[in-house]
Amino acid sequence: MEIFKGTATFSGIAIGKILYYSRGEYQIRQSMAGSVKKEILAFRDASLHAAADLKSQYEEKRLLNQQEAYAFFRQIELLESESFRRAIEDCIKSEKVNAAYAVMLNRDEMTETFRGLEASFIAEKLEDIREISGCLIRILGGSSARINLGDEPVILVTESLSPTEIMEMDKNRLLAVVMHHGSADSHTSIVAKTMEIPTLVDVMADDEWEGRTAIVDGYTGTLYIDPDEEVLKEYKLRLEADRKEKEALLRFRDETDETADGKKIGLYANIGNMSDLNNVLYYGAAGIGLLRSEFQYLGRESAPRESELFQTYKKLAEVMGDRPAVIRTADLGADKQAAYLDIPEETNPIMGNRGIRLCLDREKLFRAQLRAIYRASAYGSLAMMYPMISSEKELDEIEAIIREVKEELTGKKVPFRDIETGIMIETPAAVMIARELAKRVDFLSIGTNDLTQYTLAMDRQNPLLKDKYDDHHPAILRMIRMVVDAGHQEGCRVGICGEIAADTQLTETFLRMGVDFLSVVPACILPVRKALRETDLGRE
Ligand code: PEP
Ligand code: MG
Repeated sequence: MEIFKGTATFSGIAIGKILYYSRGEYQIRQSMAGSVKKEILAFRDASLHAAADLKSQYEEKRLLNQQEAYAFFRQIELLESESFRRAIEDCIKSEKVNAAYAVMLNRDEMTETFRGLEASFIAEKLEDIREISGCLIRILGGSSARINLGDEPVILVTESLSPTEIMEMDKNRLLAVVMHHGSADSHTSIVAKTMEIPTLVDVMADDEWEGRTAIVDGYTGTLYIDPDEEVLKEYKLRLEADRKEKEALLRFRDETDETADGKKIGLYANIGNMSDLNNVLYYGAAGIGLLRSEFQYLGRESAPRESELFQTYKKLAEVMGDRPAVIRTADLGADKQAAYLDIPEETNPIMGNRGIRLCLDREKLFRAQLRAIYRASAYGSLAMMYPMISSEKELDEIEAIIREVKEELTGKKVPFRDIETGIMIETPAAVMIARELAKRVDFLSIGTNDLTQYTLAMDRQNPLLKDKYDDHHPAILRMIRMVVDAGHQEGCRVGICGEIAADTQLTETFLRMGVDFLSVVPACILPVRKALRETDLGRE
């Protein structure tokens, strides 16, 4: 047995086989379909090929194993069904995407729709959809599906992962992630946390571990390779205890978010994309406090079109219903890059053209997002907030664009609501002008991850600074108090959406400061709800 120590960025225990991942494995990229007709023909051609292949496999198996042969028969039926063909062709037409990408979108949508339904015929159908989609994508030259984790769930070991890479993985096949690079507040770790994957960073990854059995202890930051029988036995018990503890917390799922003395608090979820919505509903979050909308812009060849954004936000609004859902406008740049953005090389991207600066610089991109948000606002309780604000001038520019967007929609008789707006407080400048900013919006949301890096002048992703980067620094706590006071003086709600919001050791401190809402990854909703319900603000 070998033991390695790293830093745990999300707790939990995992036992399984290691898959060593090195970049360059296959991924499907969306590319603008040069010609819709060409992509539809390519899809039909691939379907014929796939059907012929399945038919020959069916013939081969028919006399040997009826049950296996029947699976091929089912898949042929599905592949040749009018509804399957139409779903993909409609997607190519409406989204103007290539055939492989349309097949993938359809597969993901079906998986999402049927997720959690127990009936065995549904599991069978999903398996068939995955099989034939994988087959079509291979024929279409888009390789298999995203990053292939294989059939059995694995512990993924790697040098480093980008937020997009982890986001594209099938979380049902991912037991844990162990990386050499990264930090607790890096976006990759945040995505892993949102997906509820125990994660360690700062472990020297070795490709020789491939296929070996391992244990990840996401409480102590320990990785065991080829664990002894005794250790394995102990961790199996701990895994079960961990599961029970999480299950016990489920009794808080339907409880309200109020302190023991009756103060109501907003407890919301931070999410990266629509697949996280299941967990938001599962844990009973009162709303979405932060949708990191930029993730929809990553891992692709071109920016999402307004229609695609609209569909996503509409679904978000409809699923959340009366519960608020705050879309943060795209916080691109810095560590969230896409080639098509073509951001000139910067000496210091963290302090570069990112967040709201980039959006105001790329007005067309920003307008498309704002229009999509306003159009979707008619379907639920959406709100939006802006990242990385450092001056009132930025707000002047945003407000001018919003005015035009609203006029345009009104002119075209497109329904929309006058949604609430908010500002992320992530720069020391925003803290200092919090009162002026609060006059102009409905809420302020403190992003302590970036606020810490800009206040301490320490890159939040730099593993060398892991013992120094401290989001509990007295300067940060004092700034939170300053922003709460400033916001309240202007009748503006103030909350926290940085990682620190989930620290239950600080729940009481935040509530005593007067924080109105906390927004945390879905998996932390219940522990924080428990903590705030146990807090009695009437007690000295
Ligand atoms: C933050 O900076 O605290 C925040 C919530 O935004 P992100 O982590 O996406 O930068
Ligand atoms: Mg931030």
